[in-house]
Amino acid sequence: MNTHSIEILSRDGAPGYLSIDLDALRQNYRYLCARTAPVPVAAVVKANAYGLDVARVAPVLRDAGCRDFFVAHVGEAHRLRQFVDGARIFVLNGLQPGAEDGCADAGIVPVLNSLEQARNWTQTAAMRGRRLPAVLQVDTGMSRLGLPPEEASALAADGTLRDRLELLFLMSHLASGDASEDVQNSDQLAAMKQASALFPSLPVCFANSGGVFLGAGFHGDLARSGIALYGGMPTDAIDNPMKPVVRLDVRVIQTRTVPAGARIGYGGAHVTTAETRLATIAAGYADGLPRSLGHRGAAFFDGVRLPIVGRVSMDSITLDIGALPAGTLKLGSLVELIGPHQTLEAIAADAGTISYEILTSLGDRYHRDYR
Ligand SMILES: *Cc1c(COP(=O)(O)O)cnc(C)c1O
Repeated sequence: MNTHSIEILSRDGAPGYLSIDLDALRQNYRYLCARTAPVPVAAVVKANAYGLDVARVAPVLRDAGCRDFFVAHVGEAHRLRQFVDGARIFVLNGLQPGAEDGCADAGIVPVLNSLEQARNWTQTAAMRGRRLPAVLQVDTGMSRLGLPPEEASALAADGTLRDRLELLFLMSHLASGDASEDVQNSDQLAAMKQASALFPSLPVCFANSGGVFLGAGFHGDLARSGIALYGGMPTDAIDNPMKPVVRLDVRVIQTRTVPAGARIGYGGAHVTTAETRLATIAAGYADGLPRSLGHRGAAFFDGVRLPIVGRVSMDSITLDIGALPAGTLKLGSLVELIGPHQTLEAIAADAGTISYEILTSLGDRYHRDYR
């Protein structure tokens, strides 16, 4: 990376340089909209916009035309409000007892996940003498959140309850949206159609990022995308069409040459079999580089793969830099952890996890550059 970045890092002492491409984010949003058109796309910005900072991400999406935002918790919804004035904000995890008045006051739209939550919301509505907006989530086979079929039928049959709710969408969530051939997708779509028959004119909100790529039958009336916005791979059906949003470079804080038989890192878990040149870099599992990358993962420099040797520490990782000419890496040099030579998906796979977990774990110790 350029000397400008190195100077910034040296100045603020940050372990690395996390650059977030807001233009790529905007392009990803437009790309998804083009795929679902004329159906609009809502942005899922839970967990601080998948770790990328909702204060930076949400306004860009709003300026790109996004009018609907989903978060997981009420607290996230209250915080988001200041960044997306005028947009609709939905809370996926449901209406928890005690949150009703706060939601109603702030105009936050809860996703109702049970008959009990629906009743609580209608009580709040009754006290305010008006209907209150809500999304109704039904469980179509994930067994996580949402009304089971019998509760959905009960609610549909209860005219008084329905009249007091201003239902905006019937919603459900795909368990295997990224797996294009999985039969669970068509099973869930069939279950969604059955639930929809109970609420004939109610618009449908169904597809996550993966669902966008399953075809128009899954788009409903509003798609909800998270990971694809942030450059993650939404589907196994095609090569990742999303623009990379995140690049991570970590700096070298020490280099050394060790003889054969040297133990490397905690537990002496790696022992060299020959003289080895090493570089220690300034980020570890506290910076979202999982411990499971030990002995498996790598960093890159100028396209050259530098394997991780030994265990990942909390604040550092040791690399075998023997593939580079001696003297190439110096104090302050930056090695690529996420970027053109190692995608988010690739590092996640090496760590035995998914892009979502890598993004949401990056933490706040890096120097962040929003472009
Ligand atoms: C997180 C989440 C999404 C977004 O999923 P992506 O795969 O990131 O697009 C959509 N809907 C619900 C209910 C979610 O929990």
